[in-house]
Amino acid sequence: MEDCLFCNIIAGKIPSEKVYEDDLCYAFRDISPLAPTHFLVVPKAHLASAAEVTEENAAVVGHIFAVIAKLAKDMGFADGFRVVTNCGELAGQTVHHLHFHVLSGRQLGSFN
Ligand code: 5GP
Ligand code: ZN
Repeated sequence: MEDCLFCNIIAGKIPSEKVYEDDLCYAFRDISPLAPTHFLVVPKAHLASAAEVTEENAAVVGHIFAVIAKLAKDMGFADGFRVVTNCGELAGQTVHHLHFHVLSGRQLGSFN
């Protein structure tokens, strides 16, 4: 997807501050952090949003959650964090490549 921002970040064509990478996913710091720890985890294979997850491609979502749990321990924020994915413009999705926000480092309020 040559016109997809996050595909270009994964490919290294657009610089990013890498947090973690493996064969299936890439994690990098959000450019406009909303918490002291705020990074995004994306599947390397392009999916537009959570609405495109199917039984056939869902394994990467479980893998991403396992990676997040490991990073929480390794980076020292396992005591409290939030994982968010915005799906569709009504939910505030601005980049149409599936991504999970990981937020920690401050008291997070309720949201609606
Ligand atoms: P969304 O609003 O789609 O859920 O989240 C998109 C996120 O991507 C936003 O939090 C925004 O700050 C972040 N973002 C947008 N462009 C870039 C970029 O070029 N680099 C990085 N690291 N983050 C970006
Ligand atoms: Zn993409």
